[in-house]
Amino acid sequence: MTTEDDFLVFGQPVLHEEEINEVLDTLRSGWIGTGPKVTRFEDDFAAYKEAPHAVAVSSCTAALHLSLISADIGPGDEVITTPLTFCATANAILHAGATPVLADVDPKTMNIDPEGLKETITDRTAGILPVHFAGRPCKMNPIVDACQDHDLTLIEDCAHAIETQRNGEHAGTFGEYGCFSFYATKNVATAEGGMILTKTEEAAEDLRRLALHGMSRDAWKRYGTDGYKHYHVVEPGYKYNMTDIQAALGIHQLARVDDNWERREMVWGAYNDALKDTPLTLPPEPEPGTRHAYHLYTVLVDEDAAGITRDAFLTAMTEQGVGVGVHYVALPEHPYYQKNLGWEPEDFPHATRIGRQTVSLPLTPGMGDDDVGTVIDAVQEKLGS
Ligand SMILES: *Cc1c(COP(=O)(O)O)cnc(C)c1O
Repeated sequence: MTTEDDFLVFGQPVLHEEEINEVLDTLRSGWIGTGPKVTRFEDDFAAYKEAPHAVAVSSCTAALHLSLISADIGPGDEVITTPLTFCATANAILHAGATPVLADVDPKTMNIDPEGLKETITDRTAGILPVHFAGRPCKMNPIVDACQDHDLTLIEDCAHAIETQRNGEHAGTFGEYGCFSFYATKNVATAEGGMILTKTEEAAEDLRRLALHGMSRDAWKRYGTDGYKHYHVVEPGYKYNMTDIQAALGIHQLARVDDNWERREMVWGAYNDALKDTPLTLPPEPEPGTRHAYHLYTVLVDEDAAGITRDAFLTAMTEQGVGVGVHYVALPEHPYYQKNLGWEPEDFPHATRIGRQTVSLPLTPGMGDDDVGTVIDAVQEKLGS
C-alpha cells in the first residue's frame, strides 16, 4: 500500500504558473464570463488545427449536441456511432432527439469499422459520428465517402484527438463539425470545456448563437464600452458558452500541447518496451502517415492468458498506488440503452470484449521516469514476465 501522497492519479493535468497567473489576471480584470480570452483561445485553437473557425463551448458533450442541432438532426433521424466510447457520444444524439445506431469497432484499431458502418446506413441515417479512440485517427476516407454518397453530416468526436492527424489532415476537419473536450483528464484541460471546429462562417455564427440562448448578439459585446446594444432571441438556444476563466487555462496549455505530446510519446514507448513480454495485449503501433495523440495507453487483460481477471488487475494496480481507467465498458452493457434502444452486448462482440478486458495505464506529461517505473513495476509484479 502507498500513502495518498504517492498515489499516481490517473489523468492528472499539469498546470504551470503561466495559466495560474492568467486565471488570476482574469479574476482581477473583473471580466470572468465569456470575453476576450475565449476569443483568443478560439483563434489559437483554430490556428493550431489549421481550421477556418473554432467556437468554444462548455464541454464536448455540448459541442456534440450543438453540432447535431446545427446540422438539423433531430427526431426521426439516425446517427451512426461506435459502441466503444464515453456515454456522452450517444447521449448527445439522444439529447438532439435522434436515435443513435451502433456499428462495431475494428478489433485491432478499436475505431469504428467502416465496412460495418456502411451496412448500418438506412433511409433514416442523417449523420455519422466517429470517435478517434485513444487518439488514433479513424480510417477517414471510407467514412467521408459514405457521407458524400448518402448525403450525411459528418461530426467527429475528437475528445481524445487534439493532436491527431491522418495524411497531414487534422482530426476534426474531415467533416462539417469537429468536437473537442478540455475536461480535466484530457490532453488540454480547462476543468470543463469544449471546442467545435467548423468550415463556414454561417455554421460558426449558428453555433455561437445556439450556445448562448439563441440570442443574436454576444452578451459580452452587449456590456462593452461601445454603447448598449439590445439582443434579440431568434430561437430557444442553450447555455453552453465557455468562460474566460476556462480559456485562461486553455491558452497556455495549448501552447505546450506538442511538448506534452512528446513526453507522452516517450512514456508510451517505455511502456511498450517494458511490457512486451507480459501476457497483456498492448496497443497497436500508430499507422504510417498518421499522428496518434497518445491520449490513452490501453492494455487488454485476457483472463486465460494473464491468469487474472481485468477487475482483479484494476484492484491490484490501485493497491500499488497506480490510478487506472477503463475506456470503456461498451455502451450496450448499460441498462438504459438496453432497455430503451434494445442494444445487446453480443451484437457488438469486438467492443464488448475490449470493454471487458481493457485497462488504461497513466499517460500524462507530468509523469517522471520514476512514475513510469512505478507503473511498470506494478504491472510486472502482478503478471510476472
Ligand atoms: C471526455 C469525452 C467526451 C465528453 O467530453 P466532456 O467535455 O466531458 O463533455 C465525449 N466523448 C469522448 C470520447 C470523451 O472521451
